[in-house]
Amino acid sequence: MSEFIPLSVPNFGTKEAQYAAEAITSGWVSTSGAKVGEFEQALARYVGMPRAVAANSGSSSLHLAALAAGIQPGEEVIVPTLTFIAAVNPLTRYVGAAPVFIGCDDSLCIDPDGVEEFCANRCTLKADGLYNNQTGARVRALGVVHVFGNMADMPRLLDIARRYRLVLIEDATEALGTRYTAGPLAGRFAGTMGDVGCFSFNGNKIITTGAGGFLVSNHPDWTEHAKHLSTQAKADVLQFLHDEVGYNYRMTNVQACLGLAQLERLEEFIAIKKARYEQYRAGLDGVGGLRILPFREEADGVRSNHWFYSLSLENTALDRDTVIAQLQARGIQTRPIWALIHEQADYPGCEAYDLDKAQFYRKNIVNLPCSTNLTEADCGRVIAAVKNLL
Ligand SMILES: *Cc1c(COP(=O)(O)O)cnc(C)c1O
Repeated sequence: MSEFIPLSVPNFGTKEAQYAAEAITSGWVSTSGAKVGEFEQALARYVGMPRAVAANSGSSSLHLAALAAGIQPGEEVIVPTLTFIAAVNPLTRYVGAAPVFIGCDDSLCIDPDGVEEFCANRCTLKADGLYNNQTGARVRALGVVHVFGNMADMPRLLDIARRYRLVLIEDATEALGTRYTAGPLAGRFAGTMGDVGCFSFNGNKIITTGAGGFLVSNHPDWTEHAKHLSTQAKADVLQFLHDEVGYNYRMTNVQACLGLAQLERLEEFIAIKKARYEQYRAGLDGVGGLRILPFREEADGVRSNHWFYSLSLENTALDRDTVIAQLQARGIQTRPIWALIHEQADYPGCEAYDLDKAQFYRKNIVNLPCSTNLTEADCGRVIAAVKNLL
């Protein structure tokens, strides 16, 4: 039997081993050491921001973003329902805020029409901000996720956030490297256009430090506050004085070394992601009613990182869970897209609007293997196995 093809695994080589070994032999293996600062500078340079703050996960950087934005208990945050739970918990439950869920458009990202509709018809804009008519609560922020590396509709979402006085928090955990190439936002990377943006280096992301993340902000004081909160809010290091409740959300020096090596390979990884994506499209799109979902591309003024591939079963008799089980039996790991968050145990009875497309994609999507070490031959094997199910 041929080898197992996993969904999405790290791609480490000699450079990662060499850089990490330097940290290990130097003894700087924990949260002190020069490499974290060096990695933060390299990340800031890559995404074109003055400063980046490293953290020990994407989830913790999202929590830091919510704290730096000053989201208060009892306030509300507009979030997508079709996403990973870590895009929602840190912006809402972690800080005592409540979510209002909105569905997606055909990019799988939050639907600007749904957000506009909620703000315009179910809220009242007062002198000090937007208020939800149903709950009376202040609607403080808008969380936007760049799903699977696809760019959300930022010109419209930024305009909505400005008009309704919402803090815009970008979850770019899946979209490192995605950027506008044309239009009013040309040159801007996913994660750098809102008030604050977060990234992840978890093992399944386009580059990884095992676990890790970082944030950037267009408010220099928010960036410094996030750094402060991530290091136990130390006001005086020697005397152990802390001026607020902080966290240990720091990245280690070893992780930073892994990240420096991975960042050198990011553009190469993005090229591989695109090549495999094109291979899946050529092999499966339009075959027997199958569809490979599109990304925003150069024609739309976007360079996408093509992180995660979606096969849609909308026009076939094939059923999602049967496809996943049958591919698993052939040594190929796939998965369904996330269960909708407004239906999860922790969010009973929350407001949720504009759900048709989110429900449709939830039912029809199977995510295909997408590791950057997936070879052309592996990808060919996945294509053949899928065709064989038709
Ligand atoms: C991976 C991911 C996160 C969380 O990142 P971690 O580093 O795993 O904590 C948050 N949001 C989305 C959309 C993700 O895909």
